Amino acid sequence: MTRFAVTTFGCQMNEHDSDRLTTVLARANGEAVQDPADADVIVLNTCSVREKAEHKLRSEVGRLSLLKRQRPDLTVVVAGCMAQQEGDKILKSMPAVDIVIGPDNIVELPELIAQVRLGGPPVVRTVFDVDAPQFLTAPVVADGRATAYITTMKGCNERCSFCVVPYTRGPERYRPSDQIVDEIVRRVETGVREVTLLGQTVNSYRDPLGLLSPAPNASPDDPDESEFAALIRAIAARVPDLLRIRYVSPHPRHLTPSLMLAHRELSVMPRHVHLPVQSGSNRMLKRMIRRHTREEYIDRVARLRQSVPGITVSTDIIVGFCGETDEDFEQTLSLVEEVGHTGLFGFKYSVRPNTPARKMDDDVPESVKSERLQRLFALSERLLGQHLRGLVGSRQKVLVEGPSKTNPNNATGRSEHNEIVHIERAEHVEMVGSIVEVEIVEPFKHSLLGRLTQEAEARLPRRSVEPSRRKLPLLGPKS
Ligand code: SF4
Repeated sequence: MTRFAVTTFGCQMNEHDSDRLTTVLARANGEAVQDPADADVIVLNTCSVREKAEHKLRSEVGRLSLLKRQRPDLTVVVAGCMAQQEGDKILKSMPAVDIVIGPDNIVELPELIAQVRLGGPPVVRTVFDVDAPQFLTAPVVADGRATAYITTMKGCNERCSFCVVPYTRGPERYRPSDQIVDEIVRRVETGVREVTLLGQTVNSYRDPLGLLSPAPNASPDDPDESEFAALIRAIAARVPDLLRIRYVSPHPRHLTPSLMLAHRELSVMPRHVHLPVQSGSNRMLKRMIRRHTREEYIDRVARLRQSVPGITVSTDIIVGFCGETDEDFEQTLSLVEEVGHTGLFGFKYSVRPNTPARKMDDDVPESVKSERLQRLFALSERLLGQHLRGLVGSRQKVLVEGPSKTNPNNATGRSEHNEIVHIERAEHVEMVGSIVEVEIVEPFKHSLLGRLTQEAEARLPRRSVEPSRRKLPLLGPKS
């Protein structure tokens, strides 16, 4: 039996890939160990979207090369986006690495490990599965979790000039809708009540088998139209015990009327969307090749809010992109203020290999990028603070995920607007996977404190059962 450890650098997509790496190695008679020092095979699952993750990988490989001097039989694998992007350059610059494997080749990993451990040479395998895309899933087991990520597609057909994803994940390939629905059905049987549909441009989804009925309000002649709303409707219809469907990351262009209507009509859709914008300046959006303007973004959010009053919106922003002036940055601040984003992931631009932007001047000094990021975060904190304070006294529907990290007597979960809500003195084991009604009593910096309403208390079951064995009760109405 081969003992292996997987270390993840990067985003949710990478976390998800690490689960798939673990599944593939475990199925090949491997044993997962927590401590890399106990492993025969160490897999570093990398990200190349930001330069920082790349630096982390280099220092980790440096550390492992020392370990490998003591244990020459140790096998070091570099997987993920950086593996795809750099290929054999990794073998040349990091001699401690034995295998470089791209995201589409994970299933081949046990065979490559066996070859290397039998004395074979270092190997690079980074081929996109364009002709016959595979969508591996981690095993569906009852682990007491109420939430799960579900892959719907991979790759990206956009060419945002700063972004390395089209080069590390390849073109868009979609998972058949029946596979997606089947996986959700099985996850719900284990107690999952909220799924997050994953894709680089998740709302450009199209069913490769053509099994979906067109969604109401879909406009087939609109180039931005997709079958994402139809997929959501199919999931909602076939999995009635599912309480929430979230999704990341959508592209603003594909927030079409059919998707807005799904948000309005389906109780399974929460009142929140994460909608990346990247900049509030049309000049920057053009240089970024985002294929939408500031006005179009604002207009889509306004129409979504008309359709679903009170829906909250969060976003991603890059500061200090090539040529960004003070005025461009002020426009970003004004867009965030105008839209009233209640959450924001901000990043300083860094040049990524192979991207169109590498030919532009990365001309915003580091100190200016840092100062802009600080100002952006300050604005974001102010908007979030106002928003959270405004919720005190209101009633919110919270999907309970488990005990609070800071106080195990409390439960924690997310409201339908995506705020983190800690629930005072709650019997979280009984409530995990249920939507409960909570009265908000106090705002924190990034979350809320709430108390179960009397009606929600009255609905709580009295009997206590092991979380992994329980059949989850549906305590409240769907949100
Ligand atoms: S839409 Fe743009 S930013 Fe998002 S993954 Fe595709 S290229 Fe990258």
